[in-house]
Amino acid sequence: MAILRFAPSPTGRIHIGNARTAILNWLMAQKTGGQFILRYDDTDVARSKTEHAEAIAADLDWLGIKPARVEYQSKRFDKYHAAAEKLRASGHLYACYESADELDRRRKRQLARHQPPIYDRAALRLTAGDRAMLEAEGRKPHWRFKLDHATVEWTDLIRGPQHIDTATLSDPVLIREDGSYLYTLPSVVDDIEFGITHVIRGEDHVVNAAVQIEITRALGGTIPAYAHHSLLIGSDGAGLSKRLGSLSIGAMRENGLEAMAVVSIAALLGTSDSIHPCADYTELVEGFDLAKLSRAPARFDEAELNHLNAKLLHMLPWNAVRNRLGYGREAFWLAVRGNLEKLSDARAWHEIITGKITPVIAAEDRSFVSDAATSLPAEPWDSTTWKTWTDAVKLASGRKGKQLFMPLRLALTGLDHGPELAALLPLIGRQKAMDRLA
Ligand code: GLU
Repeated sequence: MAILRFAPSPTGRIHIGNARTAILNWLMAQKTGGQFILRYDDTDVARSKTEHAEAIAADLDWLGIKPARVEYQSKRFDKYHAAAEKLRASGHLYACYESADELDRRRKRQLARHQPPIYDRAALRLTAGDRAMLEAEGRKPHWRFKLDHATVEWTDLIRGPQHIDTATLSDPVLIREDGSYLYTLPSVVDDIEFGITHVIRGEDHVVNAAVQIEITRALGGTIPAYAHHSLLIGSDGAGLSKRLGSLSIGAMRENGLEAMAVVSIAALLGTSDSIHPCADYTELVEGFDLAKLSRAPARFDEAELNHLNAKLLHMLPWNAVRNRLGYGREAFWLAVRGNLEKLSDARAWHEIITGKITPVIAAEDRSFVSDAATSLPAEPWDSTTWKTWTDAVKLASGRKGKQLFMPLRLALTGLDHGPELAALLPLIGRQKAMDRLA
């Protein structure tokens, strides 16, 4: 039973890349009968907004993700204070007084000397007296975690064996001058306290994992399994994070895409499985295996999503859409679904069948079409009526193929393309067919 979390910062909408992380966590929770926790990383109170948190919850809900538990980091500061206190007491957290400018100058000097721009731990050499003097000047400390300067090793469930020497990293700032927390420590505190067993997240957090493993150890917590997936790139090869717009889950929903089309592509992109539409989570959960994820960046193509959306609609049964559609009946759905790119496209076909259209009849087809009207069979009509009728029209007119069918389609629907007429004709009915042909 895996306990997982999806931890967005509510500073904006989630896009397909974030949704992919959420879905991978959700699939693992389902697969193991475990728990999915939605954790809002909202320690940055200035940038975090309730409306973003609500929009994220709505987007996840639309994607079929139902968190077992929802947590807000902004409500847990006492836990982070206690953890910070513990780290201070054990000598893992130390006060630093450099200003951003000073640090910047130091980094530039290091670079000029071809040294890695790693924090030099100058603050560790401050005496109690030095610190008192700095504070008397009005300086407030920020707090860094003292890394072990050892090699951290773990077996990443996607990337395989990892080792990062933390001597190559700057001691990370955990608490800013104003007392606010960066993401690093609260995340560890929560992962420990919620009993997170698996952290599935983007590979932009691989280095954080090394740091977080050391912090977890310093706090006496259990280290979770890590799985860092590659990031999505756009069809142009560039990263997705900078460009939201149509890539946000909100926009996909507003554009009338099927949630399961979005879920299918997000779950299958970058895996060894083919990308195909899944009508619900069942197959995705069964087939879920982190080992199927590739380390290479996965390419997200909106055209592919639209194509998948159409393929999904083409296979959906009436029951899956009847409530959302709110009109039509099963025969209508089965007739038109194969011609839809989005569910909303069904409306136009419903209008064509039940409403008024302008039949299109070329001058040279006028008598052919009106003659055809006279041989329309008597009702009741079914799926064989079209064949019976056109066989008779073919015999009487001597026309065949496109010459035979296209003028009838144009007269009956006003369009030169569309669903099978065998399915449409009984839905249009004899009276309307007669009127249109005449
Ligand atoms: N709030 C972090 C992010 O969105 C969470 C990273 C993590 O899963 O640990 O990047």
